[in-house]
Amino acid sequence: MLVDSHCHLDRINLDPYDGDLAAAVDAAGQRGVDRLLCIGIDMGNAPDVIAIAERFNNIYASVGVHPLDISDDLCPEDTLLKLADHPKVVAIGETGLDYYYSSDNKAAQQQSFARHLRVSAQCGKPIVVHTRNAREDTLALIQEHGNPNVAGVLHCFTESWEMAEAAIEMGYYISFSGIITFKNAEELREVVRRVPMERLLVETDSPYLAPVPYRGKKNEPKYVVEVAECVAELKGLSFADVASQTSRNFDQLFHLGA
Ligand SMILES: [Zn+2]
Ligand SMILES: [Zn+2]
Repeated sequence: MLVDSHCHLDRINLDPYDGDLAAAVDAAGQRGVDRLLCIGIDMGNAPDVIAIAERFNNIYASVGVHPLDISDDLCPEDTLLKLADHPKVVAIGETGLDYYYSSDNKAAQQQSFARHLRVSAQCGKPIVVHTRNAREDTLALIQEHGNPNVAGVLHCFTESWEMAEAAIEMGYYISFSGIITFKNAEELREVVRRVPMERLLVETDSPYLAPVPYRGKKNEPKYVVEVAECVAELKGLSFADVASQTSRNFDQLFHLGA
């Protein structure tokens, strides 16, 4: 039992599986990765991620516009709300702020993020937040537009413990990717040690960021095992404990009854 809480299944490399997504999902299942959250990045791929979630019992979807994929015409809240109405859509996003790769359109990123937060607050589905080099603005927008009863997750977390702590206080979960296995990530591993187990999720963010020992290769959901193993080692827990606790956290956050 293990969940990959953030993957881009419409973008992963299916060459090793003769182009068959079901075989990649099966390969993950054989390593105990029994559920996946397939993340939307813009309106163009929303139908694709929803179709994937419809096809597989154990795959859920999110809908939103990634901060690095926003266009001049921001996605209207109505459009997001309509997509969010689908029963397999369990989250809004990914959305958020990325000032590391794109700092010239901060205002548009903020507006887009605020819209997603309002949609999440309105429909009651939690938000998947991408945040990089935008600590204060991310927290301020969550505070201003989020619904404290809905919350969400800061995905592929690479920021400071102080930011994690502030988000946890607002009811958020912190999701770690393969980056925590990278040699130069000692500071981030210290954050992993401090995040309470009951607020922690694991993800691949595949096809990006494959964990050690696959670093540099194309990532896929089955490698979330290596992320969970790293968490277990840092926390002094068994792999089974990390797998079951992060699965429970996933259910709790996304309102999925067992
Ligand atoms: Zn992201
Ligand atoms: Zn992503």
